[in-house]
Amino acid sequence: MSATDGQAPVLIAGAGIAGLCTALGLLRAGVPVRVFEQAAELREVGAAVSLAPNAVRALDSLGLAEALRDVANRPALAAMLHYRTGAELNAYAMGDEMERRWGKPYLQLLRADLHQLLVQAVQALKPDALVLGARVTGLAQDDAAVQLETAAGRFSGRALIGADGVRSAVRQALHGEGGPSFTGYVAWRGVVPMSELRYPDQQPDTAVYLGPQTSLLRYRVRGLDAMNVVAFARIDRWVDEGWSSPADPQELRDTFSGWHAVADDLFQAMARCGAFKWGLFGRAALPRWQVGRVSLIGDAAHPMLPFLGQGAAMAIEDGVLMARALAGVTDVGDALACYERLRYERATTTVRRSDAHGLRIHNHPVDAPDPGPVPRDDFAEFDFDVAGLPLAV
Ligand SMILES: Cc1cc2nc3c(=O)[nH]c(=O)nc-3n(C[C@H](O)[C@H](O)[C@H](O)COP(=O)(O)OP(=O)(O)OC[C@H]3O[C@@H](n4cnc5c(N)ncnc54)[C@H](O)[C@@H]3O)c2cc1C
Repeated sequence: MSATDGQAPVLIAGAGIAGLCTALGLLRAGVPVRVFEQAAELREVGAAVSLAPNAVRALDSLGLAEALRDVANRPALAAMLHYRTGAELNAYAMGDEMERRWGKPYLQLLRADLHQLLVQAVQALKPDALVLGARVTGLAQDDAAVQLETAAGRFSGRALIGADGVRSAVRQALHGEGGPSFTGYVAWRGVVPMSELRYPDQQPDTAVYLGPQTSLLRYRVRGLDAMNVVAFARIDRWVDEGWSSPADPQELRDTFSGWHAVADDLFQAMARCGAFKWGLFGRAALPRWQVGRVSLIGDAAHPMLPFLGQGAAMAIEDGVLMARALAGVTDVGDALACYERLRYERATTTVRRSDAHGLRIHNHPVDAPDPGPVPRDDFAEFDFDVAGLPLAV
């Protein structure tokens, strides 16, 4: 592709985790970027995020090791608990044991803190890299460049990376396959101050309560001052308008009635402090992501259910690899092809594994007289090192 590729910026649609990681990787390699975000101000919603060792390894490669550990908790122990009795169904060590085994810790933090850390790192290298109020509405490309239409004007670049989430406009423009579909799962997410809890001293520090077709994940964040709570239920149809709305306390009570007092305390605190209800939407896998000078990363490329805690991790790995490919391979088309070759299998396998794990957990006959062993994550994603992967051109 064009000989002027070296000077023109890489355009990125979406300043979420995937877009910001790509931008940071490119800026660190001296490649000019512009990131176009639809929101008029940068504000990350959606409670907290778990970062498995593969995600931490990738973020560390972007120079964020110290800042990340400053805002994150490192859980020591996790357990699965019976939704009604609170009895321990299984438990495993996190903390030192995970760090010893994988060379990086498992961390938990507020999404807003992770997002802010990435924004600050990008702006420290290029104060005007982010263009806000710039909803992407269309694109065109030829052999020399990509033209991007946004609410903030028209821009031209050497490549365009669609990092605009599950409802990606870039994906729609490239592959035109319609909107995402409801996966049958709904999630309620909230962060409650420990002072709101009747049982603030909950052990272990990370737990999943398992109920029939339902689950509740809780872990501490922001120092240890607050509890992140995520409840999941399987339902037939998503009837709410939009894909996220303030949680209805009565619906929470009805969906999770009869739960153990400690779990019930979490639901009540969520109802009091305000939580959001999210429909979880997905898409069928695309046979390929790249079209010419344009490709997709993160949820725009491969949205996944959150049951392995790997959606943000994949977005981070994608960003690191996309930046390496664009900085390391001269021809834009070849760089995007290299990214896809190295990334496609990993991301689509994780999507499938996450689907399967969600089904195993939510179909576990927790109330049966002999329910058998509770399904456990085998941590197969954790040892991946996206920053050390050889670029196969
Ligand atoms: C309940 C729940 C819990 C989760 N927990 C975890 C977890 O513990 N660990 C984990 O690894 N993952 C988790 N995930 C998954 C993770 O949150 C996502 O996979 C990740 O945020 C994807 O990042 P992204 O940057 O690709 O997309 P997004 O975070 O969706 O960012 C997309 C950005 O693009 C912008 N945008 C959208 N359209 C346009 C447009 N047309 N023009 C310009 N900008 C646009 C948006 O405003 C946004 O800023 C969870 C998800 C859910 C639903």
